[in-house]
Amino acid sequence: MKRLLTVLFLLCAFYTVNLAQRTVIYCKTLIDGTGKSLSNAAVVVEGEKIKAVGKREAIPATGAKVIDLGELTLMPGFIDMHCHPLGNGDDDYQTYHLKNSSAEKALQCLHNVQGMLHAGWTSLRVPGDLDVGFAHFAVRDAINKGMYQGPRIFGAGHWISVTGGGGDLNFFSDEQKGVLVDGLVVDGPEELRKGIRNEIKYGSDWIKLLVTGAFMTAGDNPQNVHFSPEELKVAVEEATRRDVPVMAHAHSGEGIKMAIRAGARTIEHGSFLDDEGIDLLVKHGTYLIPTLTIGKWFLDFNEDSQALAKAVALTKKYRSQVESQLSKAIKAGVKVGVGTDLTGSDPDYLVTEFIELVRLGMTPMQAIMAGTSVNADALGKPDLGRIEAGKFADMVAVSGDPLKDIKQIANVKFVMKGGAVIRKD
Ligand SMILES: [Zn+2]
Repeated sequence: MKRLLTVLFLLCAFYTVNLAQRTVIYCKTLIDGTGKSLSNAAVVVEGEKIKAVGKREAIPATGAKVIDLGELTLMPGFIDMHCHPLGNGDDDYQTYHLKNSSAEKALQCLHNVQGMLHAGWTSLRVPGDLDVGFAHFAVRDAINKGMYQGPRIFGAGHWISVTGGGGDLNFFSDEQKGVLVDGLVVDGPEELRKGIRNEIKYGSDWIKLLVTGAFMTAGDNPQNVHFSPEELKVAVEEATRRDVPVMAHAHSGEGIKMAIRAGARTIEHGSFLDDEGIDLLVKHGTYLIPTLTIGKWFLDFNEDSQALAKAVALTKKYRSQVESQLSKAIKAGVKVGVGTDLTGSDPDYLVTEFIELVRLGMTPMQAIMAGTSVNADALGKPDLGRIEAGKFADMVAVSGDPLKDIKQIANVKFVMKGGAVIRKD
């Protein structure tokens, strides 16, 4: 008898949980992330996944929890392919890791990524961050364990650089060689192998290479290529053997082409992309993450910054050239993704990337795809970035019609991650 009661109790509990987990969301417009839209739509969510999508009249809510979003437009949650959430927006970011402990940065990171999730960013990729340790992975792991609410986090522990490159500190005297740098500085194939193995050991699911110099760091030139073709080949081979993709920070045209040929999956920034580089991106199916927002952030807020003087000057000098080449790349069918290169400490500013991509030639629908399904594919996570049966229920709803005016994408009113409501205004 006791056993029978237990079985009955378990069956009831199972049934109740299942019922409670079924939610039907109604909205005026649904943008699925792959280029299709549907009016008067319904999405059925069970557990953390989407169970069905269809017209409102075809999906009754019998027995399910209902979320009626009224006039709102529902889309897949946004994915930021390039952000550094350990930072706090301080302009002197090259010494930030020396002034803040790993613990302080982890707390800052949690604050930033929760703000990003609230603003509709349900996944992000960190291409290395401002820490000698792996603070952002501690945050990722705590979120994955359910200890804290936050977005899905992917990425690399550190940016890997040559001596004197963008991951090194090039403004100290040679007596200060012991100062810790936040990049992983390696030279030659063997150090690269060891560095990559170490990155993977401590939780990197991407490898980030600074193939060329950078805009934001002192003492290096973004038009120079830093790694040799042999080093690049070894790096991609080592990462690939562990099923870990490579993202290549590359500004110079030659560096971009070398990274594509070596087999990088994504090119970060791509500032001095030439026509041959565009052809190679198309031919190899390599993703380009142009990070337009950081350049706009330099010009909008940091014109007087001492620490960012180099970045501001380079951006002013080359912005129009960068923009016209990117417009060409978009026209040529390069797979362009959304990445902001910001810390997320000002989450409302992040949608700038969608707006900039539309200004440079994408349709609003293409820009939304760039920040959802295209990014999901670049991540190697086709279960994300789409409102389709079987995908993760990561969604965001905005007021207004972002297909008519992309700026409406900023009016976030509802966020869901993995079937859990994060925000409903
Ligand atoms: Zn970056």
